[in-house]
Amino acid sequence: MSNYIVLTKQVPDVSQITDNAFDPETGTLIRSRLASVINELDALALGFAHRMRRLSGDTSGKIVVLTMGPPMAQEVLRYGLSRCADAAILLTDRRLGGADTVATANPLAYAVRKIVKEILGGDEDYYVVCGMQSVDGDTAQVPPQLAEELKLACVAYVTDAAYRNGRFEFTRIISGGSQVVAPRNMPAVITVAKYEWPLFATFARTRRAKRTEIITWDADDIGAAHIGVQGSKTSVIRVFPPGKTTRKCKRLADAKSLAEVLCSSFRGEGAKSDKAVESSGRYVLPAERKNLLDRSFEGTKKEDEDFKVLGGVLENLGIDGVGQINEYIKGEILAAAGERFHSKALESMLDGLKLAEAGYRGEVWVVAEHDGRQVHPATFELVGKARELADSLKTKVGVCVAGGKVEGFAEELIAAGADNIYVVEHELLTHFDPAAYRKAVAGCVEKYQPQIVLFAATPRGRMLAPMVSYRVGCGLTADCTGLDIRDSTRRGLIGILMQTRPALGGNVMATIMTKSSMSQMATARPGVMKRLPSDAGRTGTVVPVGVELSDEDLCLEVISTELGGGEVNLGADVIVSGGRGMQSRDGYEQLAGSLCQSIGSKLDTSVERGASRAAVEQGFVERAHQVGQTGTSVGPKIYIALGISGAIQHMIGVANSETIIAINSDPNAAIFKQCDYYIVGNVEEVVPQLVDALEA
Ligand SMILES: Cc1cc2nc3c(=O)[nH]c(=O)nc-3n(C[C@H](O)[C@H](O)[C@H](O)COP(=O)(O)OP(=O)(O)OC[C@H]3O[C@@H](n4cnc5c(N)ncnc54)[C@H](O)[C@@H]3O)c2cc1C
Repeated sequence: MSNYIVLTKQVPDVSQITDNAFDPETGTLIRSRLASVINELDALALGFAHRMRRLSGDTSGKIVVLTMGPPMAQEVLRYGLSRCADAAILLTDRRLGGADTVATANPLAYAVRKIVKEILGGDEDYYVVCGMQSVDGDTAQVPPQLAEELKLACVAYVTDAAYRNGRFEFTRIISGGSQVVAPRNMPAVITVAKYEWPLFATFARTRRAKRTEIITWDADDIGAAHIGVQGSKTSVIRVFPPGKTTRKCKRLADAKSLAEVLCSSFRGEGAKSDKAVESSGRYVLPAERKNLLDRSFEGTKKEDEDFKVLGGVLENLGIDGVGQINEYIKGEILAAAGERFHSKALESMLDGLKLAEAGYRGEVWVVAEHDGRQVHPATFELVGKARELADSLKTKVGVCVAGGKVEGFAEELIAAGADNIYVVEHELLTHFDPAAYRKAVAGCVEKYQPQIVLFAATPRGRMLAPMVSYRVGCGLTADCTGLDIRDSTRRGLIGILMQTRPALGGNVMATIMTKSSMSQMATARPGVMKRLPSDAGRTGTVVPVGVELSDEDLCLEVISTELGGGEVNLGADVIVSGGRGMQSRDGYEQLAGSLCQSIGSKLDTSVERGASRAAVEQGFVERAHQVGQTGTSVGPKIYIALGISGAIQHMIGVANSETIIAINSDPNAAIFKQCDYYIVGNVEEVVPQLVDALEA
């Protein structure tokens, strides 16, 4: 009999954001102005656990809902009780507040242990079921880190379950396709990425939910090792509004106008949309700076402004060295700076000016992702970024590549900008098993102690990175879109990695830094960093690294894998992609096929058909055509999205397109805010008109 512990979180309702939810001064979101709801994927996870219980045929298994949050978070527990939960635990304590993912996963893991002991009577046959990620954090890090603390298998990005031969098999999303796996041992952690059947409350269950006592625990009850701000390994430096998209977002009236912009954009008329990547200048170590007072690399806006004021005053006073600043000069500075800062702030700035040693030492690393045949394109992008960071820090770029036979990748990685390739080869690494890879990569990191470790924010990277970082006790920032080296001298830090990422569903940006860690770790969004041109003349070193692995180290049994393949040219100049809005395989064939043909003959260029993951899953087209985070990342001159909503996982894969055109029947489709030209309309009507207009 399996039991199910479902993790739920109360989050701000980011789908209902009104203008007054933003601070007019800073442009950032005020969380307290948003309603609180259950995190949608957690609600689906609850439904998923309920389905698992039914599939197992043993309905005596308990479903226990657990949340950590303020007292009002008990609302999500009542939600769970009114659907299917048998018991509910609220973990609440001010000391738990302000936690990052490490200081969230850790107390939750301790609470799971206590649930098993006190509510499940010590029965070790249980699943922890959670949503893949929460909409406020968007990290997907807590479940794998919780699994790591409990030393359990973690099956991430699950979309379906089947019960066969007395055990569960899970279908999950992987890069390039999907896979069916089963945990080798119980208990296990499951993260749900998609489930179409949420549960609804019944009258009887709602009454029961009201009567059921919610069990409340505080920090002392669970005795966790890492809690709250103290136990966190990252801290937020600043929060700011996201930059405006540089896409044109222009609505067109009809297919004729669309045909005209399609042709003119293809010919390069009208400037290409630039990507909204923040460029923040190259970092220079203090020893390399021309002037000691040059502090253009401070962390926060305030610190930056204060140092500019200080620099200006010192320049006016003719002072160019910290040694010249005595008590009299300090008085002069404070008088000249006026209200800008007080004496304590001045002292800390002057102390900061004396700092010259970087806070971290070691190489800048990338953990390579590959499928055994080739290295994932995102790895090369990260090597390009790592090269820039390492050059600023005057250190080397290392790539850690674990696998069955992977030494052959070294040459290409060195040509892409790496200096040292740390090769961990073992036959048990031939296929990606999270636990075995975690052991291999964590061992390598512990041995060589790089100062920065970057992973691609692919499903695999977002699974492996939290496990590795938790195991080696380092902070981790998820899904970064900006990585810069900065000083924060008022905190006594030189040359640290500022990790910038979207949060709250992309409504705010946050810059985060690592604390109390040997290495600074981040996953970075594919398609954002730039791959360097390959240089076959570059030289580097291959460093073989040993790892001891046995069957005991594997956590998953792979039952089947479905990967896209075949002759698909997603490097074509024009890609016509279809989504779920194409309605059927015939609809897709007819509409995408006819549009490809007429664009090909009109523009005399290569055209290929693409698809969203939903279209592939509906069977409209083969997997090899899938574009996006777990499909192929594309960068054509023209990308045409037909009946595609614009989910982040799709748009990540098309960010490098020069011009994006969308046709969608929903006037509020998210894709309209991320494209250059669009038409609101049915694809069945607009596409034939577009074909006619192109042929006219
Ligand atoms: C870990 C993970 C990885 C993922 N990787 C990818 C990936 O690589 N690629 C990817 O695409 N997705 C990926 N997804 C899925 C992604 O989140 C979305 O679910 C998916 O992109 C939605 O596809 P869609 O836009 O075709 O379908 P929907 O979101 O269902 O949108 C269909 C759109 O069609 C419109 N429409 C309906 N009828 C018509 C009509 N007659 N004419 C015009 N418009 C119409 C609707 O208004 C709607 O906007 C991933 C998800 C996860 C969790």
